[in-house]
Amino acid sequence: MNTTLLDKTPQTQITSKPTLIGLSMDELKPCLAQIGVPDNMLRMRSKQLFHWMYHYGIQDFDLITDMAKELRQKLKENFTLDRAEVIERLVSKDGTRKWLIRTAPGIEIEIVYIPDVARSGALCVSSQVGCTLNCSFCHTGTQKLVRNLTSQEIVMQLMIARDDLSEWPTPFEDRQITNMVFMGMGEPLYNYENVARAIEVISDGEGIAIGRRRITVSTSGIVPEMDELGRLGVMLAVSLHATNDTLRDVLVPINKKYNLEMLFDAIRAYPDLSNSKRVTFEYVMLKGVNDSIKEAEILIKLLRGIPSKVNLIPFNPWPGSNFVSSNHATIKGFSDRLFNAGISAPIRRPRGRDILAACGQLRSESVKKRASAIRAEREESLNP
Ligand code: SAH
Ligand code: SF4
Repeated sequence: MNTTLLDKTPQTQITSKPTLIGLSMDELKPCLAQIGVPDNMLRMRSKQLFHWMYHYGIQDFDLITDMAKELRQKLKENFTLDRAEVIERLVSKDGTRKWLIRTAPGIEIEIVYIPDVARSGALCVSSQVGCTLNCSFCHTGTQKLVRNLTSQEIVMQLMIARDDLSEWPTPFEDRQITNMVFMGMGEPLYNYENVARAIEVISDGEGIAIGRRRITVSTSGIVPEMDELGRLGVMLAVSLHATNDTLRDVLVPINKKYNLEMLFDAIRAYPDLSNSKRVTFEYVMLKGVNDSIKEAEILIKLLRGIPSKVNLIPFNPWPGSNFVSSNHATIKGFSDRLFNAGISAPIRRPRGRDILAACGQLRSESVKKRASAIRAEREESLNP
């Protein structure tokens, strides 16, 4: 398990009091014990509090009608229900929303909401600030890892989106956020423990209640962690992007450590795969690099026997990127070849490009700002 030194204690609070947002039912118990709730009441009280926090989405302890005033007072004196600070909020022409939030100094995270994915809407969340892997076509990969996000910071991303979409209390039907995907910044399997704890909170039926079959974790192929991920019961997405090791070594360099054979062994071992629980393969379409019909045919062979679907992603450019997206006709040809072999291969419509919210365009504003601040300083020193 990759537990880097950068994995620091949560600092999600805005005030000096710690926020309870993001904690699981079990994690709430010691907080309640700390303010004097007796042992025999801990289970009941933590369940109550959890329900108010994640079903009703309250931001004020005084709204808890079924707790005595003294207990609410103690909660207020010691804790908050603060979310992180929202620094920026953008809404794209196509309805995609993007928030930039700050959970601690230097810890800035982008969250993207994509409406109308089938009959639903998906929230794309981040697991790390930056990434240690340098996939050559990915903007996030150009940003060094700042640190793993805590489970609180992961849950908070969902809470903030729900606040903004006024999606409280948790609706039973006609939800705006029906699905959650770990396809934002970072490699979720290099932050497995926090991702797993966040999934526990998010999928709990007493609260936000997004079922595990509606949560997808996307990985570049961290083979040793895939087994544990399987036990969580969530959906698996694999960033494949190439059908041979030579090319994948370049596009997704972690392939040098875990090659295609190891990756496919781990995928085949993923539990309960069936037509209703398919693996999603992400395949970014790069002009003249990985988009030939021959590659579509090799892909068909690779996927034989695996319940799968392939998401063809037109490459989303970012400042300084060296690739060009395949044209629509090529992508369509690739997609048709897979469909003819019985593999669903939709072309992912780029969403929110005007607000840099599309796949692989995420990168902390802080880095951009830092760069512009450095430029401004440099100009100032040249023109004092
Ligand atoms: N680290 C994880 C999850 C985050 S990336 C992973 O790699 O799977 C989410 C998806 O966006 C991945 O499939 C990634 O390969 C893809 N992606 C990255 N940069 C992209 C770009 N510029 N254009 C299109 N897709 C991109
Ligand atoms: Fe990291 Fe995923 Fe980007 Fe690769 S594609 S650099 S693993 S975020």
